[in-house]
Amino acid sequence: MTETEIPEDHPRYASLVTRHRIEAGVENGITSKQGLIAQGRGESFDYLLGERTLPSADAAARAAAATLLLADHPVLSVNGNVAALAPDETVELAEAVDADIEVNLFNHTDERVRRIADHLRDHGAEEVKGLAADGEIPGLDHARGTVDADGIEAADVVVVPLEDGDRAEALDAMGKTEIVIDVNPGSRSPRTADIPIVDNLIRAVPNVTAHARALAEAGPGAQRDAIDAFDADDALAKAEAAIREGSFGAETEPAGGGVSDGAAQNGENPVDESAR
Ligand code: ATP
Ligand code: MG
Repeated sequence: MTETEIPEDHPRYASLVTRHRIEAGVENGITSKQGLIAQGRGESFDYLLGERTLPSADAAARAAAATLLLADHPVLSVNGNVAALAPDETVELAEAVDADIEVNLFNHTDERVRRIADHLRDHGAEEVKGLAADGEIPGLDHARGTVDADGIEAADVVVVPLEDGDRAEALDAMGKTEIVIDVNPGSRSPRTADIPIVDNLIRAVPNVTAHARALAEAGPGAQRDAIDAFDADDALAKAEAAIREGSFGAETEPAGGGVSDGAAQNGENPVDESAR
């Protein structure tokens, strides 16, 4: 079945499209087999989140957008799963916040970096970093720590969707402001992040772009307010509460996930992308 043959009215349409893209990514040498396993873990957490963007994840996406707009040198790190699942959305986000795109792989091979870079260019990326591989993240072995000197090594803000915990910690130790997108609030990577977006990257990336466009109009004051209003520990607690206390019939994020001002207590509905 090709992507266009998946019936749009299928109740698991988004999930089927995702699986198809990942499978195609493996067939095209973009996604690793390890990436398939990561996808399986991600799907189960997304199922538990109700396959929706929690209000706390939306606030994180907004803070992330503001952080990217205020950055001097933001870089979006792209691996084989991100390239397969959201190539157009990644290119659009890079344009909206004027960020570099760098291919950065846990299982690095020059061949796979090249394939991913070509794939992103096919989806409209102008410049894709990651091939120079002339920089490093200190504290990691060579294969896992290789980056571009004028890319991730020089960045002040990095977006690392689905990042491995060790690398997230090593980037943090370098003093980077880290934005992690990961559906598992217990994974080390979002727990290390300055801004953890606990959401499926398929929803999160375009959501950050939408917030960036709105905040670019609103100006630096509103951008700083979005960052100040965001509390990473509270967002992680709310996502964990949604998973642990949610029920498959529930429509809202449960209360009790930490401190709060939030949406949860107000019974705010999950973010509806179509309303934007
Ligand atoms: P660690 O605690 O060391 O960070 P991990 O649980 O993150 O380990 P990995 O398999 O290395 O394990 O990382 C994959 C991560 O990516 C998982 O946390 C998984 O939930 C997440 N993930 C997979 N697919 C998606 C997706 N489409 N959107 C967001 N997150 C995803
Ligand atoms: Mg992780």
